Amino acid sequence: MKLNTAAMRYLTSEDFRVLTATEMGSKNHEVVPTTLITQISGLRGGSGVGNSISELAKANLIARVKNASYDGYRLTYGGYDYLAIKAFSNRKTIYSVGNQIGVGKESDIYVVADERSRKRVLKIHRLGRISFRSVKNNRDYLRNRQSASWMYLSRLAAQKEYAFMKALYDNGFPVPEPIDQSRHCIVMSLIPGFPMRQLSSHEDPSTLYSSLMAFIVRLANHGLIHCDFNEFNIMILDKPPSDDAQFVVIDFPQCVSIDHVDAERFFKRDVDCIRRFFERKLGYVAEEYPNFKRDVSRVGKLDIDVQASGFSKKMVKEFEKALSESREKGEDEYPAESASDGSDTDEVSEGHEDEEEDEEENEGEGDSSSVEESDAKEVLEISS
Ligand code: ADP
Ligand code: MG
Repeated sequence: MKLNTAAMRYLTSEDFRVLTATEMGSKNHEVVPTTLITQISGLRGGSGVGNSISELAKANLIARVKNASYDGYRLTYGGYDYLAIKAFSNRKTIYSVGNQIGVGKESDIYVVADERSRKRVLKIHRLGRISFRSVKNNRDYLRNRQSASWMYLSRLAAQKEYAFMKALYDNGFPVPEPIDQSRHCIVMSLIPGFPMRQLSSHEDPSTLYSSLMAFIVRLANHGLIHCDFNEFNIMILDKPPSDDAQFVVIDFPQCVSIDHVDAERFFKRDVDCIRRFFERKLGYVAEEYPNFKRDVSRVGKLDIDVQASGFSKKMVKEFEKALSESREKGEDEYPAESASDGSDTDEVSEGHEDEEEDEEENEGEGDSSSVEESDAKEVLEISS
């Protein structure tokens, strides 16, 4: 799905209030009744709210739903994107949005920049309506509403990824610097490199192999298994600072604790992925490879720290369950909406910086890694 940035140009602060009201209303309503939107927005009823609603619907940020008992609106992915990007813009972690550099089944990746033109990466998690059935039984979170579950799961994925990335970054693991998180989106440093899958040869595969295996073991010693440790999620640096630091690891939403019942199997799968890649692509067969029982001994507790940081054990469980069930089913049906933008060369200025409603506060500023090379054409200035 394309990121709809066009609307950012012309939406007024009232439109934004109405959009925010729809988001808030969807915490309790699958379809947010128009009257509730009006009420939450705190705007006087009448044509004002009506106009905003039709602007937002036209921009595909909300969608009209005819319910059996009442008519109302639901927030679309486009609307959710908008709210997250607006929060980043308010917090000055993003100033402009550039090209899309990755499309996964469950995420979209964009190059963005801050006010000082430092390039960053925006990862938008997009878990579809897929996982409803598995999550809907969890009354604590969803109270049996099928509604917000794509929103909920995508946000959970972003929160989880951000929490893990932060814990790993703070402990000196080679991962992108986590910069900000809002809703289903995270902002992180841009890694100047390319996915390992693009490697077809290497002058010294044994050093790279050893340091990748050392990463897996060190991660496990600190309590975690990546669970998707493959050539797609390992970035090879264009200019490695040393032979032992040639890569950066990305993509953590599926990380698990070494106390997980399937930990040994997940560990082996990560190890086997690397062995297979080196064998097939680089013609390198190593005798040695790590073994969970023999080589892992806990020295840290990142798994526990992350839970303490707000991503509770319960959330981890629920998320894992939803994720694996949805993947097994192989469904990837997104909320029906089309986000046409056609804004590729548009400059945006919007005059409504007054609205604030960030529930999640993230500091996490710092020196973003400098990036020389960039294919990011700045196509959108979010704030003026
Ligand atoms: P998914 O969950 O969809 O697999 P990833 O986080 O693995 O998403 O990102 C998909 C692709 O986007 C990666 O393979 C990589 O090419 C690119 N990418 C993601 N994060 C970064 C980053 N921080 N710096 C540079 N490229 C990135
Ligand atoms: Mg990936």
